[in-house]
Amino acid sequence: MIVSYENIEKPLVNSSGKNSADVLCPKEGCKCVVLGKETATLVERDGSKLVLPESTLPANSLLQNNIDDTHFWHVGNMMDFDNVGFSITVGTTKYLSCADCDLGPIGYHDTTCDPKEYLISIKRAKYRFDD
Ligand SMILES: [Zn+2]
Repeated sequence: MIVSYENIEKPLVNSSGKNSADVLCPKEGCKCVVLGKETATLVERDGSKLVLPESTLPANSLLQNNIDDTHFWHVGNMMDFDNVGFSITVGTTKYLSCADCDLGPIGYHDTTCDPKEYLISIKRAKYRFDD
C-alpha cells in the first residue's frame, strides 16, 4: 500500500526510532524507493535550506518552495539510500533528487556537516507500508 504524506494514518516511526515504511519518490506514478524501511531516523533541521531560488529549481520540479519542511529522514552514509540522485549544488548544499525521474529537491546534504548527514524531507515523499 503506497500513501502520500498527507494521507498517512499509521506511525511513520517504529519502536526502534526508524522509518516504519519504505520512503518513495513523491511523484505520481514513480515507484523509486529512496530509503528502505528501518534505515533512517527522524530529525528536525532548518527547513529554509530546502527553499531554492526560483531560477535554480530543476526544470521538472513539481514541488513548491515551502519553509515548513522541518522534519527529515536522516542517514549518515550515501550507501544507506536505496536510490538517490544529486541535482544542483548551491554553496555548500547539495540537493538530492529522485534517481529515476529527477524530481527534486526532495532533500539535501550540507557538505560542511561533520559527521556527514543526508536529509530527505518527510513531506516530499510517498510511503509504502507492508500491508
Ligand atoms: Zn521519481
